[in-house]
Amino acid sequence: MDAHRFAPGRALVLGGVRLRDKDGLEGHSDADVLTHAIMDALLGAAGMEDIGSLFPDDEPAFAGADSLKLLATVVGLLREQGWRPVNIDAVVICEEPRVAPHRQSMRERLAAAMGVEVDQVGLRGTTTERMGFTGKREGIAAQAVALIERRG
Ligand SMILES: [Zn+2]
Repeated sequence: MDAHRFAPGRALVLGGVRLRDKDGLEGHSDADVLTHAIMDALLGAAGMEDIGSLFPDDEPAFAGADSLKLLATVVGLLREQGWRPVNIDAVVICEEPRVAPHRQSMRERLAAAMGVEVDQVGLRGTTTERMGFTGKREGIAAQAVALIERRG
């Protein structure tokens, strides 16, 4: 799970897709909340350190970082431990923008970054019916679960 607050002057990137040049999310990297949730799900499933430990906020090298590249790095670390991703399921929680029109391109980019097929990546958007911080448009949240397996 991850959440970032809106930041008017920043681009909005979700699942590696740049949706707009402003009204994006605050964060040290590109603030791709969806990709971050997937990274943490993969790392958690493998019993590894979370992304905050791997890619610290105070590390200049990760300022404005492309989160898809960080995701590829994470999958590489899993592979070093003998793990490979099997299925990912993720949900983006916000009132806007609508995820559906971009769903396919997000799935393609995420799958490519992880070295898996598109049909191994589930993705949808939902709202909280105007309740809570996502409902009040203060930010965007994302949740993900990951199934991984040991290569034989
Ligand atoms: Zn994040």
